Amino acid sequence: MARRSRTKTPITEQAPDIRKTNFAEVCLGYTIEEGQAEAARCLQCKNAPCIGNCPVMIDIPGFILAIKEGSMQKAADILGKYTNLPAICGRVCPQEKQCEQVCKLGMAKNFEPVAIGKLERLVADWALENQDFSSQVVNDQPYIGKVAVIGSGPSGLTVAGDLAKLNYEVTIFEALHDSGGVLTYGIPEFRLPKRIVQKEIESIKSLGVSIETNVVVGKTITMDEIMADFDACYISVGAGAPNFMGIPGTALNGVYSSSEYLTRINLMHGYEFPKYDTPIKQSKNVVVIGGGNVAMDAARSAKRLGAETVSIVYRRSLEELPARIEEYHHSVEEGITYHWLTNPIEYLDDGQGNLCGVKCIQMELGEADESGRRRPVPIENSEFIIEADTVIEAIGQGSNKVLLSTFPELNLTKWGYIEADPKTGETSIPGVFAGGDIVTGAATVILAMGAGKVAAVAIDKYVQEQKTPVTTKV
Ligand code: FAD
Ligand code: SF4
Repeated sequence: MARRSRTKTPITEQAPDIRKTNFAEVCLGYTIEEGQAEAARCLQCKNAPCIGNCPVMIDIPGFILAIKEGSMQKAADILGKYTNLPAICGRVCPQEKQCEQVCKLGMAKNFEPVAIGKLERLVADWALENQDFSSQVVNDQPYIGKVAVIGSGPSGLTVAGDLAKLNYEVTIFEALHDSGGVLTYGIPEFRLPKRIVQKEIESIKSLGVSIETNVVVGKTITMDEIMADFDACYISVGAGAPNFMGIPGTALNGVYSSSEYLTRINLMHGYEFPKYDTPIKQSKNVVVIGGGNVAMDAARSAKRLGAETVSIVYRRSLEELPARIEEYHHSVEEGITYHWLTNPIEYLDDGQGNLCGVKCIQMELGEADESGRRRPVPIENSEFIIEADTVIEAIGQGSNKVLLSTFPELNLTKWGYIEADPKTGETSIPGVFAGGDIVTGAATVILAMGAGKVAAVAIDKYVQEQKTPVTTKV
């Protein structure tokens, strides 16, 4: 242990003063030499706990050893066995709450865990630059069956890639004009460059998966048509319908949902207006409501668009903040300020229908609620006003009803998500599987991918069983 560096190998990032004025990626990644230095910190544990805490059970010591030995191709092959989207996961997975949280090196006094996520990103980026994905078509045998995937987010892409590898003909139907789900329309360029998302999607397409965009299932085509045409289908439509606080003033000009704000910027390239023709408001004082990754992304985007002040209003304290800690630190470095233990109660009108301020109340933490977190309660007579011309509400999303309302046969949970077996993705209807945020509610990329992985195995089993002739004893 003594010869190992206690801290992670430093990684190059854009300086805060520069990056807060552009949308280019913040973290520039390891060089191969830096990656090898970091890989050398790994203890190569037997029964490595990092594997068990990865939702797709990547052979982490295996790919790290390959980096250390200088074999990037071997490292890429190992990763490829477990994940179709490593360059994305290496960037946005909450590693600090998964593999890195249980890393044995990190358990030792004063040692940081191995930078597993950054190493995954290094290998994946190397593969995207150096591997020829056009040659990875699996085989030329007749397809086993035809599967429809609805929604092209990480869950749909994963199930599609895994089924294509098993020799299925897979078609993904996507409502938007571009594929990738939240990876494309939600997470900003400075955290997850769209060229990386598109390259990983291309690698999945090169397995034979076809993606039909601008198809809203439930409107453009029906579930009945899909079920008649395909042997099975997987619903992965995410949880993209915005929730609102519903406080007075919500209809004022300048009040956005984070979904609209981020979609304008990311999917519609609002930050490149007028090169792209989606305008985005030039704000002076922005208030973001919420404390998750979405709130961080909205606040940091507003800063990059030139807002003078950007503050986050969160009803609990830093200790309970659900966002990734790395994103929080980045936001502070970029000049985002925080109103902890604060809740908005009214959006104020300038007399012409435009937002001019946010009336807030201070909170304190009371007894624990059903989530185990202490419930924030308002402190009487503690109201105050934050000047603002833009508010972005990032208080969570729910299930989108476009498809579900046309398919009432499907059992839903009491929260309006699809009821599905977490071990298989099976729903109440034979041949219809579901996974990702539309089953769990808003969660993470890797959990959505994990659901896609287990569903691919279950769909294969289901289709094979349907196609096997039933023989009866005479
Ligand atoms: P989605 O990614 O939501 O994809 C669903 C797709 O289905 C969409 O493309 C949608 O257009 C399409 N669709 C919907 N209805 C239909 C229909 N009727 N017909 C056809 N297509 C349809 N997670 C992390 O792990 N790390 C992060 O840093 C992180 N940051 C985030 C930042 C933001 C701003 C947001 C919004 C989420 C973030 N998440 C993060 C969460 C993560 O992105 C989601 O958990 C994940 O994308 C869910 O994947 P999914 O495939 O289930 O759905
Ligand atoms: Fe390496 Fe940490 Fe995994 Fe052990 S737990 S194998 S040190 S990454």
